[in-house]
Amino acid sequence: MSAGRERMEAELYEEGGPGRAVYELAMNPITHLLIGWELGSALTASPRERAAIAWASVAADADGFGLLVDLGNRVLGRPETAWYGTFHHVLFHGLFGAVLAAGVAAVVCRRRVLAAAGAFLAVHLHLLCDLAGSRGPSPGDVWPIHYLAPFSERLTVSWAGQWPLNGWPNVVLTVVLIGVVFVQAARDGVSLVSLFSPRADAAFVAAVRKRL
Ligand SMILES: [Zn+2]
Repeated sequence: MSAGRERMEAELYEEGGPGRAVYELAMNPITHLLIGWELGSALTASPRERAAIAWASVAADADGFGLLVDLGNRVLGRPETAWYGTFHHVLFHGLFGAVLAAGVAAVVCRRRVLAAAGAFLAVHLHLLCDLAGSRGPSPGDVWPIHYLAPFSERLTVSWAGQWPLNGWPNVVLTVVLIGVVFVQAARDGVSLVSLFSPRADAAFVAAVRKRL
């Protein structure tokens, strides 16, 4: 990474919650969704179960909702708030979030145990990925996982080797997963696009099959 870009990212990060959020949203949820999609595809062929597991893999990041509150208050000229910094990586990034996601999957799917177990696993893969590669731009910006939050600070874990969120391992992982999505689309006739629109997915699959 160039020194100029590094400085720019550090400044963005220093701005506080929203700055950090913009930095994070550069890639993170997409990679999590790709991982969840592949996990769901490995566990089940049911579109509903697959979707429940895939969405569970990004659900933990829903605790970043404070970003909207903080930005909203800033835009409206109201007193500054720090909801993003308070709740993100705290509320759903642990056992509570995993149980919640498993519960939702169990409610919306017919094979409750499979869906719940898949969603539970998806959240834990998310936690593992964050533990490994969600550091901020400078080496001191390691993000821990508060596994028992928001109820307890016990079982807070971090890894000193955590690489930056936009580090090369995350980029390689994302590119490989996108490649797998293409191969899968050609082979199985379904892709991650189906999570958003079955019609768009059919068009995507047809386009991929024409080229692969
Ligand atoms: Zn996360």
